[in-house]
Amino acid sequence: MTILDETGEIELFLFTLKDVTEHKRDEELIKHQATFDALTNLPNRFLALDRLSQLINEAHRDTKRVAILFLDLDDFKKINDTLGHDIGDKLLIEVAVRLRSDLRNGDTVGRLGGDEFIILLGGLDDAADASPIAENLLNHFKDAFIIENRELILTSSVGIAVYPDDGDNSSQLLRNADSAMYHSKKLGRNTYSYFTEAMNQEVSRRLTLEEQMHGALERGEFRLCYQPQVNVTNRRISGVEALLRWNNPVLGDVSPDEFISIAEQTGQIVPIGQFVLTEALTMAVRWQAMLERSFTMAVNLSPRQFRDPNLVAFIEQAIEKSGISSENLELEITEGVLISGYDYIEDALASLSDLGVNIAMDDFGTGYSSLSYLRSYPFNVLKIDRSFINDITVHPADRELVNAAIAMAHSLGLKVVAEGVETEEQLAHLATQGCELAQGYLFSKPGTAEEITTMIEKQ
Ligand code: C2E
Ligand code: MG
Ligand code: MG
Repeated sequence: MTILDETGEIELFLFTLKDVTEHKRDEELIKHQATFDALTNLPNRFLALDRLSQLINEAHRDTKRVAILFLDLDDFKKINDTLGHDIGDKLLIEVAVRLRSDLRNGDTVGRLGGDEFIILLGGLDDAADASPIAENLLNHFKDAFIIENRELILTSSVGIAVYPDDGDNSSQLLRNADSAMYHSKKLGRNTYSYFTEAMNQEVSRRLTLEEQMHGALERGEFRLCYQPQVNVTNRRISGVEALLRWNNPVLGDVSPDEFISIAEQTGQIVPIGQFVLTEALTMAVRWQAMLERSFTMAVNLSPRQFRDPNLVAFIEQAIEKSGISSENLELEITEGVLISGYDYIEDALASLSDLGVNIAMDDFGTGYSSLSYLRSYPFNVLKIDRSFINDITVHPADRELVNAAIAMAHSLGLKVVAEGVETEEQLAHLATQGCELAQGYLFSKPGTAEEITTMIEKQ
């Protein structure tokens, strides 16, 4: 379309004009999309790191410092899993608003992706100047988020890296802030930490563990050890607890306290747990036949295994295949499994209990030690943690606690296993309280299948 002026001259071609604006708008839109996060409208990773480079240049010129705060929401996955992604998205938007409202003009908040945010504080004189800001951020999370009439309480973990102390380029600083954030998670979350060199070693150890664990099951690097559980009154073996061992060509022996949590986080605990169960049941059948009396195989289950929708069916089939009777299998879970409060855990425990499998509460005394859990879930066995057993002959307070736990378990119809029994005195005291079973170095350290077979032959 052409527009002519009063004199009949062509004033302009309208379509050209229109074309130009649209083109420009598109260009801006594309630029915006490339640099801002679509959900929260915060600078995205690309733009945030670009700003970080600018801040580094300025700080270099003015001999100032820059703090990089890496913020990760605690348990955000749980919110997504239980309340749905819609609520999760809305929550992320609110978090972005709150983070932005906390900062001075000129500071940058960006979203790195998922539930990870970055906050950049430029022109600082001192690394410590970032502390009050980090504290503020954490405090600001104390008020509940209201999403669709639901009150959600959320905490976050923060890691801080400082230019030039912890790095001279944006990617190194970001990596170090991430390591510090990971450290905050390990400290129990809802806290902040400054980066230290030691954290890098921690992170690189973790990466090596993850790397080596990949394919370790297929390479046959896992095997089981078994620790006898004995009858307190006659010291006869009543069963064993299966304990996982990992020997890797690069790392050597790795303690389960170190590798189980990684296997949980990567999800590999699911196939590893299936291996444990299958292997343990095979041995249980053998030992049961040798003993010619009832024999219990206790197997540890971690919270992550309950997220496997196949868990109950797998256990049911494994029991069937092995030919053992289900009451000879005991599954040990910790309170951590129950605290999350997911329905599917309750359902799984009820189904397992219906199968006739025994359920033991492991490490009692270390967590909340909630009585109500013992009452509301189908437990058959209480295992008192070795930290309490350790001190029963030394500290009267621990002795009283253990006595009370045994009495309480009995009143709920549960059997009691004392873990970590190391001395005759401890055993004698447990006997006076009617504790049924004991496990610990006094009788035997965890042994290989061959060692246990020899032990059983002698009985
Ligand atoms: P847990 O289930 O509480 O296992 C008992 C731990 O106490 C074992 O450590 C055992 O070696 C140790 N222990 C037993 N008696 C004594 C004693 O008299 N004194 C002392 N000081 N320690 C004793 P381990 O084998 O290092 O296992 C650590 C934890 O790793 C286990 O704690 C369990 O939570 C986890 N774990 C082991 N195997 C598996 C598995 O197959 N699956 C899962 N999910 N977790 C496992
Ligand atoms: Mg256990
Ligand atoms: Mg235990």
